[in-house]
Amino acid sequence: MQSSSLYIDGGFVEARSRQTIDVINPATQEVIARVPDASDADVDAAVAAARRAFDTGPWKESTAQERGRVLFRLAAIVRDHAAELAELETLNNGKPIVESEFDVEDVATCFEYYGGLATKIHGDILPVPDKALSLAMREPIGVAAQIIPWNYPLLMAAWKLAPAVCAGCTMVLKPAEQTPLTALELAKHFADAGLPPGVVNILTGLGETTGAALVRHPGVDKVAFTGSVEVGKIIMRSAADTLKKISLELGGKSPNIFFADADFESAVDGALFGVFINQGEVCSAGSRILVQRPIYRKFLDAVTSKARTITIGPGLDRTSKMGPLVSRAQFDRVRGYQDLGKAEAKLAIGGGRASGGVLERGFFVEPTIFYDVDNGARIAQEEIFGPVAAVIPFEDEEEAIRIANDTYYGLAAAVWTRDIFRAIRLVKNLKAGIVWVNHMQPTYVEAPWGGYKQSGIGRELGKWGVEEYLQVKQVYINLNEQPIGWY
Ligand code: ADP
Ligand code: MG
Repeated sequence: MQSSSLYIDGGFVEARSRQTIDVINPATQEVIARVPDASDADVDAAVAAARRAFDTGPWKESTAQERGRVLFRLAAIVRDHAAELAELETLNNGKPIVESEFDVEDVATCFEYYGGLATKIHGDILPVPDKALSLAMREPIGVAAQIIPWNYPLLMAAWKLAPAVCAGCTMVLKPAEQTPLTALELAKHFADAGLPPGVVNILTGLGETTGAALVRHPGVDKVAFTGSVEVGKIIMRSAADTLKKISLELGGKSPNIFFADADFESAVDGALFGVFINQGEVCSAGSRILVQRPIYRKFLDAVTSKARTITIGPGLDRTSKMGPLVSRAQFDRVRGYQDLGKAEAKLAIGGGRASGGVLERGFFVEPTIFYDVDNGARIAQEEIFGPVAAVIPFEDEEEAIRIANDTYYGLAAAVWTRDIFRAIRLVKNLKAGIVWVNHMQPTYVEAPWGGYKQSGIGRELGKWGVEEYLQVKQVYINLNEQPIGWY
């Protein structure tokens, strides 16, 4: 078992806090590490380091090319250590090793994308009517607090760090208390990548202590958060006291909509992939499966029999297609919804804990499909964040759109049809920040990611992601030497 420390001002330091958090392997419940629960004093130290690095350090004078090169080096380092990072991710989060390998590749790609973008950020010259040069400059906003969840630990860290480094910000990243290990592992390479001390700091700790202290801190200029709607609202309220810029990437209850004319095989695959990938611990999970009446029964049967073939097991076992849930709390939460679903709808498959052999040791649950679900039921309205699907029938396009949009959330949606006109009508009418046609879940660093309605504020990834870390300065340079002559 390893005992970790905090990464502050370019090195690993002992926490001032005496409190620690046990980090567990969710496949076995073994404690695999112990990390500090950073206190207010630790938060002060990390923010002070980030503040110094932003206000007076060499980072302030760094060129866009230099920041780009740092990100390219980080990408190369991630690729060099891909196998060990993927293994550590699975050990800590539980997900199948193949999925961790994809995540690590996406991490490297994210650093590369923002490495390239660093030299493409520029301001504007405005055609004002007077003899003057009017400029709009883009400047980094300052110190960013970045709070991330446990479902894609290293990838979420990359989505936060890469655009902020690209913009020239400095930052304090707080990984989720359940899954801090890969971010700490990455920090071992920051100096080699050429990050000056204080530019990136990493604090482990609980949300209510370390996270809340970061959001409150007057030395922080911006908060970037990914997590639950409930905590998003707490953060927005708390950030209001010091009027910090915020971006929130929150939950979803995304509809995956299947019309009768869709390619049947692809549709069945797409329904399962949409909701069961990463054990369903995905903010954009297609957890509401809307199926048109003529294919409803056949589709339900096909999805159910294919779900039966999903191999559940420890993520490090290459044959596993579904690993354990991340924690005891998440396991209890998902088990609760499995029980609730039995009261609210009909059960097609699953509905309980996955048991037998090695599964007894970890937080494994069965892939679960409820059908004939009323969209008003709690299992159709509340984010479960586990492998639980609600199948809902619909008659026609109008009803599909109405049900799809009948939610507080608006992160993502998908529509499956071969009718191009209908597909485009759906694209226009679905109230979601991401709409897939004939697929669900592909995500690219080039494309914007974020939600409508209560799924969030702001966008990550692409050129939009870096905007969250920039602010605009208007500059007026007088080219007329004459006195104003007003008085
Ligand atoms: P979950 O409940 O599924 O763990 P959360 O939204 O609570 O999801 O957690 C996402 C991230 O937000 C984690 O890093 C967590 O520590 C952090 N967090 C939780 N509560 C707070 C809070 N009150 N203030 C700041 N961060 C928080
Ligand atoms: Mg929470």
